[in-house]
Amino acid sequence: MRKMPQVLIVEDESAIAELIAINLRHHGFTPVCAEDGPSAQKALEDSVPDLILLDWMLPGGTSGLELAKRWRSQSRTKQVPILMLTARGDEPDKIAGLDAGADDYITKPFSVQELLARIRAVLRRRAPLSVGEELKVGALHLNGATHQVSYQGQTLKLGPMEFKLLSHLMQHPERVHSRSQLLDQVWGDDAYIEERTVDVHVKRLRQALGEAGTMVQTVRGAGYRLSADAQ
Ligand code: CA
Repeated sequence: MRKMPQVLIVEDESAIAELIAINLRHHGFTPVCAEDGPSAQKALEDSVPDLILLDWMLPGGTSGLELAKRWRSQSRTKQVPILMLTARGDEPDKIAGLDAGADDYITKPFSVQELLARIRAVLRRRAPLSVGEELKVGALHLNGATHQVSYQGQTLKLGPMEFKLLSHLMQHPERVHSRSQLLDQVWGDDAYIEERTVDVHVKRLRQALGEAGTMVQTVRGAGYRLSADAQ
């Protein structure tokens, strides 16, 4: 079972923070609230969340923008996606937020549905495997801490790209992924990769998986899927 994604909400307006927290909890997330920079820092030291919702205007002299820059530069928080919340809708501010390392930007007032959609999109794009997370599909196991993959208890050897691809597929078992979705979500910002590259790595992944290779299925005209029922 995957743990519920943890979201750190850094927002000084308690009514907004509470509203977000209630809705996140209702939709399967674990919210943690912090009302300013120092308490957010403390929360991060306790546990690294899957995503940070960061308000731009915070009390105490440290802006959300400065926090975003700081967290991007620290190894502990470098990989954590940041979604900025702000009352500012100006283009230069938006660019400043993205430059500081935010993954996306949402302008207040926003609807809960819009916020949830943005959170899910950011998580899908980044989808870093949480350290120590274990994924299990059928007899296939993947350990995010040791980077070990095994099938029916036998350790398998995978290249780094195959490992990344497999961990993505295992995080969303049974779902069909098109080649362009895989490029976007597994290869990320390396924009110059052709869709054919996906096929090459899928082929290598199947070979590396041996008997479990049949779990990686081709869905004609649609893409690829990892299924617990090997065909
Ligand atoms: Ca604020």
